[in-house]
Amino acid sequence: MIINSARFEISNSTHSRCPQGMRHEYAFIGRSNVGKSSLINMLTGNSKLAKTSSTPGKTLLINHFLVNGEWYIVDLPGYGFAMRGKQQREQLETMIKGYILGREQMTNLFVLIDSRHEPMKIDIEFFNWLGENGVPFAIVFTKLDKLGNDAGRRKVQKYCNKLLESWEELPPVFLTSSEDGRGKEELLDYIEQLNKL
Ligand code: GDP
Repeated sequence: MIINSARFEISNSTHSRCPQGMRHEYAFIGRSNVGKSSLINMLTGNSKLAKTSSTPGKTLLINHFLVNGEWYIVDLPGYGFAMRGKQQREQLETMIKGYILGREQMTNLFVLIDSRHEPMKIDIEFFNWLGENGVPFAIVFTKLDKLGNDAGRRKVQKYCNKLLESWEELPPVFLTSSEDGRGKEELLDYIEQLNKL
């Protein structure tokens, strides 16, 4: 799919105020600093669309970006930023879970995982929660350029094998790098297919 336009539309603190209408939307979530903003910018070919920052956990709202005037990319806040207070963490969790479970337009959730990391409890628990609630999701491994080709594939395989210890099958898995553009075509093709449904 070719991206001709991508523009920021609105930020919200609750899914009930998100844009009306039945446009498909694709949400992106991951732990702070996983490379979510960079990935959104890479996908849309706009290096300034989502704010990239070395300060973890900066975006605390549900951000809608309209792509090709037809569908939305939704940038959800990063989860698991340990330095936040309990109250703020709970508020964020309510907002994120409310969006994921309540937003009919959400066609797929892309969960980002840093390809260098081992499976972490917080991520596994989140995947399991998605599975239990029947949420359609895919796993996007980020920053593959930071590992060699073989090392990257091995690391991802190991991660997936760990998941398969308790799951019967894997959701779709994408290997990406915002640095070298890896995975861009695959992700956009996947979105294009889902847009047709
Ligand atoms: P976010 O907090 O999840 O939105 O993460 P950012 O997109 O702001 O990225 C966090 C840091 O990781 C920044 O310093 C980025 O430059 C870096 N980064 C993000 N994606 C990649 C990638 O694919 N490859 C490399 N080498 N660095 C990346």
